[in-house]
Amino acid sequence: MKSLDSFKRIKLGTLPTPIHRLDNISRICGTNVWIKRDDLTGIGLGGNKVRKLEFLLADAKEQGAEIVFTTGQAQSNHAMLTAACCRRLGMEPILILKKRGVMGKKGNLLLESLMDTDVRFMDVPTYDSIYEEMDRVGKASGKKYYKIPCGGSNGLGALGYVDCINEISKQGQAFDYIVCPEGSGGTHAGLSLGAKLFMPETTVIGAKVDTDPFEQITPEIMREACKLLETDTKINDDEVYHVDAAGPGYAIPSEEGNEAIKIMAHNEGLFLDPVYTGKAFGALLKMAREGRFKPDDNVLFIYSGGAGGLFAIDVE
Ligand SMILES: *Cc1c(COP(=O)(O)O)cnc(C)c1O
Repeated sequence: MKSLDSFKRIKLGTLPTPIHRLDNISRICGTNVWIKRDDLTGIGLGGNKVRKLEFLLADAKEQGAEIVFTTGQAQSNHAMLTAACCRRLGMEPILILKKRGVMGKKGNLLLESLMDTDVRFMDVPTYDSIYEEMDRVGKASGKKYYKIPCGGSNGLGALGYVDCINEISKQGQAFDYIVCPEGSGGTHAGLSLGAKLFMPETTVIGAKVDTDPFEQITPEIMREACKLLETDTKINDDEVYHVDAAGPGYAIPSEEGNEAIKIMAHNEGLFLDPVYTGKAFGALLKMAREGRFKPDDNVLFIYSGGAGGLFAIDVE
């Protein structure tokens, strides 16, 4: 197997991010709940995409890209962080976003305008025609360009979260469970593969905040990452664990998510977002209520950022 250190990587994040115990939430849940502060990755408003972009943008640089394309829905945190990281690295970000969600100059769209980002919208149901448009615009520019898929969720991006498991393993606390939001699959894929390789006593659970078939998507990203790592580790789809957290649909606030946002704010002074972390933490609270965790278990929640969305989407 290749070592992670042998991959090109550009330092963008302030890593390692802290881990601390949520004392009040632990009391409420009757188990030990910890939080990994990936909201503090140190660029933009922080968030999980920075770990993926360290690998993806290193690859873009290596290939001599001047333009970097990516996509997502209108309030995509990933698109905003890609623009922020490109600005730091002197590459030109072009965001071709799906016309879906809050379109006003709020939240991440406001931050993108502060960075003078070229943001375009396409009213299409799937991303395929957006990737074609990237090729069209890229070729017409005559410059070298690089395409990052939605959420940065491919094998290379997922390596950022394989490495996050290494980071966690050096932070001095063992975990029975890791719970993360799952929106395009790369974070969960990286954590699950990392745990399989380096932390086999830990069960990773992805809380699905969208209705895509993650039972296939996530193991597929893991297999792609295995290929890059040149390991013949077998990934069985049924060893990758998911729980449902989408509620009424992607980026539509849910009752459980809103309740979780308030519980976290009231008890710990931390602000989850309505699209990802609120819903995923709602799923963790539900598992605790249902008795999924033992009193002496240690459960780590990946706080993956998302503050931009909190200022765009109404939480009732
Ligand atoms: C993108 C995102 C996620 C989901 O991560 P994926 O790797 O896309 O599944 C979770 N939280 C926040 C804040 C995000 O922006």
